Amino acid sequence: MEKRIRYDMFPGGRTKALTLSYDDGKEQDRRLVDKLNEYGLKGTFHLNSGFLGNERYIRADEVASLFQGHEVSAHTVNHPFLDQTSADQIVRQLTADREALERLVGYPVRGMSYPFGAYNELVLSLLPAIGIEYARTVESHGKFQMPSDFLRWHPTCHHHGMVEQAEAFVSLEQRHTRMALLYVWGHSYEFDNNQNWELLDRFGEKVAGREDIWYATNAEILAYMQALQRLRFSIDSRIVHNPSAIPVWIRVDTDVVEIGAGAVVQLD
Ligand SMILES: [Zn+2]
Repeated sequence: MEKRIRYDMFPGGRTKALTLSYDDGKEQDRRLVDKLNEYGLKGTFHLNSGFLGNERYIRADEVASLFQGHEVSAHTVNHPFLDQTSADQIVRQLTADREALERLVGYPVRGMSYPFGAYNELVLSLLPAIGIEYARTVESHGKFQMPSDFLRWHPTCHHHGMVEQAEAFVSLEQRHTRMALLYVWGHSYEFDNNQNWELLDRFGEKVAGREDIWYATNAEILAYMQALQRLRFSIDSRIVHNPSAIPVWIRVDTDVVEIGAGAVVQLD
């Protein structure tokens, strides 16, 4: 009998994941990070390195400590429309942003969100050489599917719809198991502008502390999917090697099987 191998689980055999992503690095990020920490949620913060320290922006010297446990990611140096920018300047905007942010946080910055949500074929074609592995758009789809293209990573919803989507997400029943992802994006200053910080509490109370949800940054989700794709099977699918440094979970027929980091596992 042929084994049926499926990639349909996140770490721990969970089938749901939740991530948030916030742009621009304004001072309201401080209050937002406090809220995320209170509820045990993970966020990715896309920063314009050229604006750090400006009025109403966070400071360069607080980036590493403020976003500890979350992810710092690129958003260009000074927020141009990348679809109206020369190839040379696109490369410059992103490599310089990566370099400045990496010096602050001490790890490789390999993701971004598009300023104004703007991109085109030229931008997409340049990203691999710049070392950008994922890029978030603003094209919310209102669903929980995983991205088919991480360089056009469409989120579930802007945070103004986060409570409604959280309700749908926690009550989602996965009859035919597929990975389900709730991806919320926004700007922290919008909670001030719209005086609706209470959205975060209503959201947190619905989604926090659940056994079936993996709380992850954008980069953690990408790294997990890459590790799944790197699994190496024998021809008969009875032996699998996980060459990555993180464990992954797969479904073999109906069984949930953990493949440890670096492990070779017999699937019989
Ligand atoms: Zn922005």
